[in-house]
Amino acid sequence: MPTYDYKCNQCSHVFEYFQAMTDEPLSVCPECGGEVKRMIGGGSGLIFKGSGFYVTDSKKSTSGSSSK
Ligand SMILES: [Zn+2]
Repeated sequence: MPTYDYKCNQCSHVFEYFQAMTDEPLSVCPECGGEVKRMIGGGSGLIFKGSGFYVTDSKKSTSGSSSK
């Protein structure tokens, strides 16, 4: 479950909110009822790895199977 950061445009109240990615984003500040914006960023998120990554043919080194 990702955490989203919101910031209110009205009172500059910043808060975090747990919600699923399928949930609708918050749009109302819980403090003043103003409009909030979701701030994208931070540590959470998807990390895509492996695309365009090729292992060389040399099997000499004991790299083994790096499955992560
Ligand atoms: Zn507010």
